[in-house]
Amino acid sequence: MNEFGHMNASQASAPSPSPESEADSGRPGANNQFTQELVKRIEVLSEANKLNEAIIHHVTNALVVLDGSMRIIHTNLQFRDVFGLDEDIVRQEATIGHVLGDDSLTDIVRQCMESGQPLRELDYAYRAGPEDAGSNDDVRQFLLDVSPFSTHLNQEGILLTFAEITEWKQRQSQITEASRLVSIGEMAAGIAHEINNPLAAVMGFAQLAMRRDIDASLRRDLDKILAESKRASKIIANLQSFARRHKPQKQPVNVIEILERVLNFRGYELQVSNINVTTKFDPRTPLVMGDEHQLDQVFLNIVINAEYMMSTTNGGGNLNIEIGSRIDSVFISFEDDGPGVAPDIRPKIFDPFFTTKEVGKGTGLGLSICYGIIHEHGGSIQVSSTNGNGATFLVELPAPEFDHIEDSAGEDTTTAIASDDRPLNVLVVDDEPMVVEFLSRVLSEFGHTVTVAENGNAVLEMTDLDSYDLIMLDVRMPGIGSGTLFEHIRGLPNGVSDRVLYVTGDATNPDTRDFIDRTGSPVLTKPFTIETLLSVIRRIAAKNR
Ligand code: ADP
Repeated sequence: MNEFGHMNASQASAPSPSPESEADSGRPGANNQFTQELVKRIEVLSEANKLNEAIIHHVTNALVVLDGSMRIIHTNLQFRDVFGLDEDIVRQEATIGHVLGDDSLTDIVRQCMESGQPLRELDYAYRAGPEDAGSNDDVRQFLLDVSPFSTHLNQEGILLTFAEITEWKQRQSQITEASRLVSIGEMAAGIAHEINNPLAAVMGFAQLAMRRDIDASLRRDLDKILAESKRASKIIANLQSFARRHKPQKQPVNVIEILERVLNFRGYELQVSNINVTTKFDPRTPLVMGDEHQLDQVFLNIVINAEYMMSTTNGGGNLNIEIGSRIDSVFISFEDDGPGVAPDIRPKIFDPFFTTKEVGKGTGLGLSICYGIIHEHGGSIQVSSTNGNGATFLVELPAPEFDHIEDSAGEDTTTAIASDDRPLNVLVVDDEPMVVEFLSRVLSEFGHTVTVAENGNAVLEMTDLDSYDLIMLDVRMPGIGSGTLFEHIRGLPNGVSDRVLYVTGDATNPDTRDFIDRTGSPVLTKPFTIETLLSVIRRIAAKNR
């Protein structure tokens, strides 16, 4: 049977015998002529059917014709392919709802039959198999047209056209997701800038108060204020680092803070995967020069890998993370008790696209990206493993120029200032009164002399910039822009511009990063601890000695 072999009305009608031919029908010549005419018309008809068939087969949409009782009477190849049916389906005289196992489709067709009106571009989703069996990847999306028709012989039917839009929908949702992430990134940067300033003041004053001789219960309260403001700053940093991509930007960073943020971010998944995390972070670990967001990415990847391997192999396990320092480097080791890495695949695991995860689960890019980032930081990443006894990833990063940071949880943070620190003459330029007050207090308490300017215009008027050992500049202030101010400072003699330290609550903003990149000056991101502040200052002072 020809699929969709509807006849064209003029071609399909058999040659009707004329009154003359009826009268002559007994004659052999007339019979012959009639037969010839009949054969010719059958040939035309057959040609028309072949053409119809070819057209129907070349249509990319899936087509199905139903009779008035919703039984399938014609299909094209695409329809059978899409819905996994064989040619036999027409002979089975089954209804469309039954064949596709979908009552909603029956309702749509019934609605169309009752109204006699076509329905256009309905969103239709088809899942092969039971609903709970597959993921959303098994769902195919279509635009469905339902068109009632009747033939010249008054045969009534419904034509269903399924245009597949699964890929288009996926692309659309990727585009939507990408622009959603961009909006989140922009929002996060905005929020970060607004929140990091007050947060810097809250953290700073809490730390300053803790340096006083206060009673134990007040100290405990201040401890809580400090811990909670650190938590708030981590939430902001998480938002920034996971919602926005960055150009690499190296600055002094604290790997302990980064690891804590990663573990915090991953806390819920680790818990539900039955991973018990223990940490041994040496608080004397020095700062390293690094891109915070890239290092975030590295540590997150190593943690996720360990979590995945342990939970899929043993239903959980133990992850031991240690951070400490050697003579001129910082090390971070991740030791798990998962399946380990077999000797034959150990040399390959940092190769791009190498994965042992099942198809669709791994890209094999994670560790190769980690390798690239760590080497770009002048460090190393290695794996060691005894088969079946877990794996240990060891990351080492150079930490050449920095002194040790003292334990921020310690009672006496004055030890953070080394004995050979000299008192500095510091200019603080910031429009946030709380930040200015905190910086002034802390720097004075550590023996430095502080002068404050509220904005860039005030700095332009100063004639004694050369007398400052350190100029702390907020990146975004009212009045003249940071660019103009930096040009002015760069024009000054005696390397004044080498003594600039930028302070920003908006470090993920690409414009801010581009600007700081261009100046080549170090940057301190708000909020920061007293220890980080002192460590950065000490480094700049040492360079300009
Ligand atoms: P992916 O995670 O997409 O597979 P990666 O580059 O991050 O890509 O990892 C490559 C491979 O390294 C993994 O497929 C796995 O075989 C191995 N691997 C990584 N971490 C561990 C670990 N902690 N324990 C055992 N094998 C691991």
